[in-house]
Amino acid sequence: MKNLYIDFDGVILDTITPVYNLAKKLNLDVKTQTKEVGLLFSKLDWETLIEESEELSNSINSIKDLKESKKFNISILTHINSLKEAKAKIEFINNLFDDLTIIPVPKSCSKTMMTQTKDAILVDDYSGNLREWESKGGIGVKYTKEKEECDFINITSLEEIMELF
Ligand SMILES: [Mg+2]
Repeated sequence: MKNLYIDFDGVILDTITPVYNLAKKLNLDVKTQTKEVGLLFSKLDWETLIEESEELSNSINSIKDLKESKKFNISILTHINSLKEAKAKIEFINNLFDDLTIIPVPKSCSKTMMTQTKDAILVDDYSGNLREWESKGGIGVKYTKEKEECDFINITSLEEIMELF
């Protein structure tokens, strides 16, 4: 079985759009005011946010299929800004799946610091995470909503992992 790590925000749920909309309302520029945006993230009501976020391209059923294939040892590997965010994500995953590992990663730590990376797959929507992952001997797979030219294997649905590996 291959180790497969799946990001949460922007891969399983589109939590980013509601956060960016809120930032816009508060006149925060997510690209430049990183400290303020970090603070916003840490204060969010994650249970509501998760409820309001849309599932990305049938991600939940795709994870179920990947799990049933028995080809992969799957964990969710997600950055968190607060313990409340971790708890909301853990509860969301636990309600949907039996026996799926979830690893919350403090925002200031690299995902590579939390697990073994060698020959493991990371599906993430953020190239920075994938670059770090590959520098530690892992395989980076970039999830995007639409096909895109990039330095990584690119997928628009988690289902594609089944044929790729
Ligand atoms: Mg992400």
